[in-house]
Amino acid sequence: MEKLQELISEDQLKAKVRELAEVISKDYAGKELLVIGVLRGAFIFMADLVRELKVPVTVDFIAVSSYGDTTESSGIVRILKDLDENIEGRHVLLVEDIVDTGLTLKYLYEYLQARDPASLRVCTLLDKPERRKVEFQPDYNGFTIPDYFVVGYGLDCGQRYRNLKGIYVFHPEAQPEITGTGSRSKEGVPEC
Ligand code: 5GP
Repeated sequence: MEKLQELISEDQLKAKVRELAEVISKDYAGKELLVIGVLRGAFIFMADLVRELKVPVTVDFIAVSSYGDTTESSGIVRILKDLDENIEGRHVLLVEDIVDTGLTLKYLYEYLQARDPASLRVCTLLDKPERRKVEFQPDYNGFTIPDYFVVGYGLDCGQRYRNLKGIYVFHPEAQPEITGTGSRSKEGVPEC
């Protein structure tokens, strides 16, 4: 665990999920909500969030893969698993783990909007506004964090650490903002 430094505890996450669910439940009072999770990172956050919602909910998932450098320049995201539900005329809440450059969510937002939902909003657990390359503002956000690479609570590094109950800064010694020294790849992802 020496590679990891806790940033957000399990208790803080639980409290924030309840707080977000309360606001979302009020906003959608009297409506039915289709919650769409972006795989794989959002699976734990979404599972906790939907259990706190007080409105009728159905769920679906979409899986995406970025093209690495190509995505950074083009903003094109590959859909690995499309929706099973027809979203036309429905109130859709897209749930994502983190908004970083904004490319993934901007692409997904436009992709879903083209299918004519009654409404479309985005809920993220984390936001790293310092890394934004395209303008994107989530409608609901749990925590705004500095430019750290984080793992846990669904977020991975090389597919590991998703099962951790809190959010951790990965390799704190390699995060320039923490030590003033380390370096990272130009994509901002440390070696896992
Ligand atoms: P964006 O398109 O906004 O740059 O990237 C969003 C995706 O990048 C997230 O869904 C997530 O998979 C990944 N990502 C961005 N920042 C982090 C981070 O700090 N930790 C992890 N594990 N993944 C991240």
